Amino acid sequence: MSADAAPALAARLAEVVEVTEAHLADADRDAVFPVEALAALRRTRLLGLLVPVAHGGLGGSVRDLVRAAEILGRADMSVAMIFAMHCQQSAALVRHADERLAKAVLPRVAAGEVYLASVTTESGKGGRLTTAEAQLTDADGLLEIDRFAPVVTGGAHADGFLITMRAAGEATAHDVSLVYADRGRLTVQASGDWQPMGMRASHSAPLRLTGRVPAHHVVGEPGQFHEIAANVFGPLAHLGWSAAWLGTAAGALSRVLRLVRGPAGRARFDITSELLLTRLSRARQRLDAVHALLQQAVSVVESGEDLSRAPRQLLLNSLKITASEQCLAAVDELVEAVGLRDGYLKDSPTRLELAVRDLRSAALNYHNDRLHLADGRLALRDQGVTFA
Ligand SMILES: Cc1cc2nc3c(=O)[nH]c(=O)nc-3n(C[C@H](O)[C@H](O)[C@H](O)COP(=O)(O)OP(=O)(O)OC[C@H]3O[C@@H](n4cnc5c(N)ncnc54)[C@H](O)[C@@H]3O)c2cc1C
Repeated sequence: MSADAAPALAARLAEVVEVTEAHLADADRDAVFPVEALAALRRTRLLGLLVPVAHGGLGGSVRDLVRAAEILGRADMSVAMIFAMHCQQSAALVRHADERLAKAVLPRVAAGEVYLASVTTESGKGGRLTTAEAQLTDADGLLEIDRFAPVVTGGAHADGFLITMRAAGEATAHDVSLVYADRGRLTVQASGDWQPMGMRASHSAPLRLTGRVPAHHVVGEPGQFHEIAANVFGPLAHLGWSAAWLGTAAGALSRVLRLVRGPAGRARFDITSELLLTRLSRARQRLDAVHALLQQAVSVVESGEDLSRAPRQLLLNSLKITASEQCLAAVDELVEAVGLRDGYLKDSPTRLELAVRDLRSAALNYHNDRLHLADGRLALRDQGVTFA
């Protein structure tokens, strides 16, 4: 999106933020999907942020996605993640869908008619992206899907699904295909409840998906999902998630500062206290470090260079690991700084209690342990220790 379009993006986001804030407490309390915020994302056409103008979208960039996820994260981490993950899915379609599929789906995404859910996690293999257990089967010239999906953000409200499956025919667990299915082609059965500690409004409940799709609904080459994972899914997930987490922690810090410096806070907090100043400094320092890493990762992704190279993968993984740890640590620091009443109680205007619960999911959402193992292997391949 051009600099001229930036104010329009800000106005669209402001509308979604306002709706999100109005329903935040209820969505968290009841662990329900923020349908009002999704309606605002549809109405403002932000669902089409990364869809090219030629398909009716806003033609936004990765930098726009990061900016948007951060702004939404300041209001609510669940809404920011819902949005960032949808954009990650739409980017995979933009770059890898067959022309017929792109023409059929992208204009509907751009018009706000199609909200995309992501189905990669599978029982047995957990979060691992590049293997699949359930296999596509040939059925009367169509591809048959029968997939249990243990964690699907917004699955009950999605209009389309991007699903990883083992490729059809002779295939091993490493031959993974990404397949698109319109909701109308699937039977979507709820298979359990969603009652987590945080991210309650993401409504990431288990589903069973069954149905048939045409062969051209395979996104990218059959069995070659690892290429999409390395160049689209991984990078955009790590950028979008990190931006959402940074926004959540930055929003929390901002609300704390407003409280401490406001009329009510001035009576209760001593802003010359060295302990308070040091804690505020530490929280801010953590967020500046994440922000710098995020901006560097955006520049690398924007450069258009091959992202599968070890130093670039290491940078993107580092961003995810660092953001997930430091944003939570910053908010925890703020809890210490303001104490029980404004750090631990649900009804404090700082909303630190919600931020801590939401941010606790960040390390688990594609487990940091899994990324450290990948990074160890990547580090061995880069003996000269070059930086992206
Ligand atoms: C809020 C939220 C929303 C989500 N939304 C979606 C969604 O929309 N769609 C979707 O598909 N998934 C979604 N997920 C799932 C997510 O992407 C991960 O797949 C999931 O959190 C991983 O779950 P897991 O417990 O199986 O972790 P795993 O990554 O499988 O790890 C489980 C345990 O195994 C350990 N471990 C990890 N790797 C290894 C290894 N190589 N060797 C040994 N031990 C290992 C870890 O330390 C961990 O303790 C979501 C998760 C969250 C938190």
